[in-house]
Amino acid sequence: MAGGAALFAPPASASSFGPISVRPDDIRYPDLVRGDNHRFVGTPDVVRLVGSTDQVVRAVSEAMRAGKRIAVRSGGHCFEDFVANPSVRVVIDMSPMNGVYYDTSRGAFAVEAGATLGEVYETLFKGWGVTLPAGAWPTVGAGGHILGGGYGMLSRRHGCVVDHLYGVEVVVVDASGTARTVVATREPDDPNRDLWWAHTGGGGGNFGIVTRYWLGPELPRPPATLLYSSLVWPWSGLNEAAFSRLLHNFGTWYERNSAPGSPYTGLFSGMGVPHRSSSGGVVVGTHFDAATPDAARLLADYHAALGDGVPLQPFVTGPTPMPWLYAASWRGGGDGDLIARRFKFKAAYLRKGLSDGQIATAYRYLTTPDYHNPNALFVMIGYGGQVNTVAPSATAVAQRDSAIKSAYQVYWADPAEDDRHLTWIRTFYRDMYASTGGVPVPDDTTDGSYINYPDADLADLRWNTSGVPWHTLYYKDNYPRLQRVKARWDPRNVFQHTLSIRA
Ligand SMILES: Cc1cc2nc3c(=O)[nH]c(=O)nc-3n(C[C@H](O)[C@H](O)[C@H](O)COP(=O)(O)OP(=O)(O)OC[C@H]3O[C@@H](n4cnc5c(N)ncnc54)[C@H](O)[C@@H]3O)c2cc1C
Repeated sequence: MAGGAALFAPPASASSFGPISVRPDDIRYPDLVRGDNHRFVGTPDVVRLVGSTDQVVRAVSEAMRAGKRIAVRSGGHCFEDFVANPSVRVVIDMSPMNGVYYDTSRGAFAVEAGATLGEVYETLFKGWGVTLPAGAWPTVGAGGHILGGGYGMLSRRHGCVVDHLYGVEVVVVDASGTARTVVATREPDDPNRDLWWAHTGGGGGNFGIVTRYWLGPELPRPPATLLYSSLVWPWSGLNEAAFSRLLHNFGTWYERNSAPGSPYTGLFSGMGVPHRSSSGGVVVGTHFDAATPDAARLLADYHAALGDGVPLQPFVTGPTPMPWLYAASWRGGGDGDLIARRFKFKAAYLRKGLSDGQIATAYRYLTTPDYHNPNALFVMIGYGGQVNTVAPSATAVAQRDSAIKSAYQVYWADPAEDDRHLTWIRTFYRDMYASTGGVPVPDDTTDGSYINYPDADLADLRWNTSGVPWHTLYYKDNYPRLQRVKARWDPRNVFQHTLSIRA
């Protein structure tokens, strides 16, 4: 194991920070009571910025004594109001606890919950030349991301982040209301192993507060260089037939090229289609491990397959070589803009590409002249590969044979427009899954949704008429086991939100 000595131990700064309490009269308060989604702004009595596990234990103990509801925030990227909820009185903000180091005592890499993915990528790569197959957004927090499963640029080759999770350090609250720290690992004889398992995809805010993850012992080496490319078929040249062909081609390609041994496991690519009121079109952004044998030809074949039968040439950028860390740290787009920070996401795992009927529905919603929003889009992201080598019960991530993750996204700025944008995305999603009660039930074409893309509508009978409960959509057969873990480790249901696990 190579790397700088300073990186081998917990950074001294971690324990010397804080705690700091931020109350409503503090200039820091407006920043600390919201996350990335400005639809939700909390009103806690205090935000506790913590720098060590002991400080988390103390902050939780104090909140318990005062009878105040707690929520934890790490990177603040939650789609829903799980943290910024009016009932939450104490927010424990993990962001100062952001160390990333090699822990010789555990023989694994330690990632503190407050580290962002960008910090994780940089330290792991500069220190050891390794990485995690985690998300493609550097400001997402490890705290909420990892325990929800975590996937990204390298997942087709290296699986989900939790496939590399060795252990967790968690602050839990027992039946007497006492907060304490527990370490749970995947070791077969670990008496706390069930708590480790629940953190391999069970989702945030359920069992306690994760202070530290251990990953490894070995971690994947990322490609030295990626080939970046983008193809754009502009709306101005697209009719419904060409649009349909593009979406059909994308689905078919992933159905055929998402097996674990595919030469394309080094490829990460997504198709994004903004509403026609945007100046864009159907965009496919791709990066591909440049060291893949015959990479240039494979990439050209991929591009050709996507455009097959489409009577319109795309605008092509690249392929352009890009070094790994630069690409992994890039925060260039796809996140709305500074002002349009209210958003709603919905998602679905796809075992197969979209049906003709679904493509027609997508075309209708993405071109309707009744709705105008350049920041409304439909996305499909290539998935599968190594992810699908893991048994559905081995981790809490039950979806292990999908080829695509799809996402519906809408961003806007003005609260007065909430209804308009929410109606567009809700009815779009409902109509896409009209034959299965408005949601992507586990069947031979869809497989529920991803808890790191939480959508409270799945628990709302107005939007989910399938008879399949929200927890089956997220966890499938793993839910009863998660309930048992919840009963054991959070018997007082201290950690709860709209989609939290019920014991
Ligand atoms: C712009 C954007 C890009 C994204 N890209 C990807 C991607 O490429 N791949 C992917 O898999 N996901 C992606 N996501 C989803 C992301 O993984 C989830 O939103 C994740 O939960 C965010 O974690 P966080 O710590 O930033 O968020 P937070 O809002 O801090 O937390 C999210 C949830 O986890 C809980 N939580 C946070 N910290 C802890 C902790 N220490 N212990 C216990 N519970 C905790 C919170 O209470 C909350 O319920 C993206 C999200 C956004 C907004």
